[in-house]
Amino acid sequence: MATGQKLMRAIRVFEFGGPEVLKLQSDVVVPVPQSHQVLIKVHACGVNPVETYIRSGTYSRKPALPYTPGSDVAGIIESVGDNVSAFKKGDRVFCFSTVSGGYAEFALAVDHTVYPLPETLDFRQGAALGVPYFTACRALFHSARARAGESVLVHGASGGVGIATCQIARAHGLKVLGTAGSEEGKKLVLQNGAHEVFNHKEANYIDKIKTSLGDKDMGVDVIIEMLANENLSNDLKLLSFGGRVIVVGCRGPIEINPRDTMAKETSIIGVSLFSSTKEEFQQYAGILQAGMEKGWVKPVIGSEYPLEKAAQAHEDIIHGSGKTGKMILLL
Ligand code: NAP
Repeated sequence: MATGQKLMRAIRVFEFGGPEVLKLQSDVVVPVPQSHQVLIKVHACGVNPVETYIRSGTYSRKPALPYTPGSDVAGIIESVGDNVSAFKKGDRVFCFSTVSGGYAEFALAVDHTVYPLPETLDFRQGAALGVPYFTACRALFHSARARAGESVLVHGASGGVGIATCQIARAHGLKVLGTAGSEEGKKLVLQNGAHEVFNHKEANYIDKIKTSLGDKDMGVDVIIEMLANENLSNDLKLLSFGGRVIVVGCRGPIEINPRDTMAKETSIIGVSLFSSTKEEFQQYAGILQAGMEKGWVKPVIGSEYPLEKAAQAHEDIIHGSGKTGKMILLL
């Protein structure tokens, strides 16, 4: 260690594998911000399913080892590098991407991926904003081109992306239907923008959605799908004429009949948040900024874990059910 270097606690991954490869270290060097970077004292960091896919080594994107996972940080600016004018030490911020990893006491981020966190939201809520809310914006407005007056089914509405999608869709004048796998989750989905909610664990819930949509030619205009490998075939049967299924989450293959897309000229569209351009991220940030000012962007926190329980968090985000909002790590 060079003299003057500060040390911190951080999760490090030295090899790809199961949750047990997440190792808590207490002698990780605190990074120094370079040009256009800020150093954030992390108060909370969101846990996203993609971080488990990356950790397992099976994802298309593989970081160089060793690395620290985590992108959705909320905290306070500790220091800034050269050419940073938007932030100063002491500012409350959140971000959707980090350079050095968010499962750590300090995280580096590039200035244009960092945003002010208003006093109305606490750090836990700030850590729930990044990937979930930006993904919800991209899915609704870029991928689905959703418009006020249309209907949307948020298929998997009780987790991080689902709650965000319900809040944003409701605020933009859509009719919102959601699904959850527990009574608590259903209640939460209704409290966060859905007009109606269904339980995706019930055998006949698809029939209940169809009944609610009305006569047999009616359907839903947009489906934001969190588990396409389970639901895509049914989704195609729930769409209206010109309807769109937006694949946000998918964990394997599924058989569909392409004929189901023909009569109603429906589409299946995939989403990749990190394919967004810098301008698109700024556009989504503008939507969220307005929602924070008006009070309809209100992240809901589900389970909280201390940093040393990151492996348990990774286990639970994939195998746990009955989500009640966003999973976060508290620093
Ligand atoms: P999360 O917080 O773990 O939530 C998972 C959601 O899926 C919960 O609402 C859960 O409901 C629901 N679910 C479980 N079984 C379901 C079923 N049979 N049908 C429909 N929904 C079901 O995860 P998240 O952060 O919201 O992310 C959701 C998915 O989107 C993940 O697969 C993630 O990798 C993906 N994602 C993709 C992008 C992208 O750029 N494409 C970006 C962000 C996230 P219950 O627990 O109540 O059963």
